[in-house]
Amino acid sequence: MLTARTKSGKQICLGYDYKKDVLQTLRNKEEFHCPVCGEKVILKLGEQRIFHFAHNRGGDCRDLYEHESLYHMEGKRQLFQWLNRQRIRAELEYYDKEIQQRPDVVFFHNGKKFALEYQCSTIPESIFMKRTKNYIQNGYHPLWIIGGNHIHQKKKNIVSLSNFHYLFMRGTTEGKYYIPSYCPNHQSFHIVGSILSYSVKNAFVQTTFIPLNKLVISTLLNPHLKEQLPIDSWHRELDKSHLHWSLHPSPQQQRFLHEIYHQNLNPYLLPPEIGLPVRHSILITTSPIIWQTYLYLDGLATKQPGGIIRLEDIRRSINRRIKRKEIIIRNLPQFEHTDPLDAIIDYLFQLENLGFLSRKGEGIFLIKKQLKIPMSNREKEENMKAFYQKYRRIYVKG
Ligand SMILES: [Zn+2]
Repeated sequence: MLTARTKSGKQICLGYDYKKDVLQTLRNKEEFHCPVCGEKVILKLGEQRIFHFAHNRGGDCRDLYEHESLYHMEGKRQLFQWLNRQRIRAELEYYDKEIQQRPDVVFFHNGKKFALEYQCSTIPESIFMKRTKNYIQNGYHPLWIIGGNHIHQKKKNIVSLSNFHYLFMRGTTEGKYYIPSYCPNHQSFHIVGSILSYSVKNAFVQTTFIPLNKLVISTLLNPHLKEQLPIDSWHRELDKSHLHWSLHPSPQQQRFLHEIYHQNLNPYLLPPEIGLPVRHSILITTSPIIWQTYLYLDGLATKQPGGIIRLEDIRRSINRRIKRKEIIIRNLPQFEHTDPLDAIIDYLFQLENLGFLSRKGEGIFLIKKQLKIPMSNREKEENMKAFYQKYRRIYVKG
């Protein structure tokens, strides 16, 4: 840890740049205590590691700091100094006795109190949720930043994102989603934006690297995000992951396969309009192929052109599937309220753009033509080609 108190109660914060000899002198005449448990701590002034305080062996408080890596300490120190340079009132390792939590940095911006948690190690989702809830209930705005060492780029525009990563997700005022990340080694933020997940583990993203000194706090809290997706690579990756999980399905995927075989559908012969990328599909953990197929089965498959689909009915059937755990909703602790129906609405609008539906009024769509289920691989390929030509015109911007 980087903060301790002297015997007289003076706070020493190593987030500021102290010279080594100044600290050596201080160490010779002072005793340091942990602001959380009050125990004596040692000031470490090694050559390799960043100057820091450490508890003696034993004691109750050790767990809190024991596994703190150099990477984490260096990162929070850089973030603290970055806020200081912007003349933002900030405190490093502020311990809030009331809620017994100690965010890495507390700072004030636009009249709001923020709890910055710079997280470089994986913690259980339940702890993440609990801490976040506790912050919100006590007047803090949580700002979780994930360590850059957790962002694994698989290909250009593709990163592995687990449930843990999604806990860090935030929204911009434009309603776009992003995950803020920081790497102290590169002294650079990575803003992982325009996230479109195509499987439980992987997502298409637009990652922007911004050096620490080129970014201000207001931009970190509300970055401008580009939105563009190569639709053919989307389908390629979707197909690959689909093939993978249909060979090794999870219980949830098994139920899906069972249901669609029962409905005489072949999971490899779905039309290109099932599995479309839509912005709010991030609210749903389940693959877009699965939830869009369910939507097709529940609302579209049985109706003829001229028929009506009501959003209310769709909400009911989706809720039923959520209850049965056929569709899994994502935990997004930093949002006050999210509605998975937003993903469904995006999708219906996309089908409208593609000429399958037309809006008849609030929450009502008219079926203009039915989705065509391919009967063979050849037919699937042909549908795909025709789809790309149409889809490019309506979706990909710029
Ligand atoms: Zn302690």
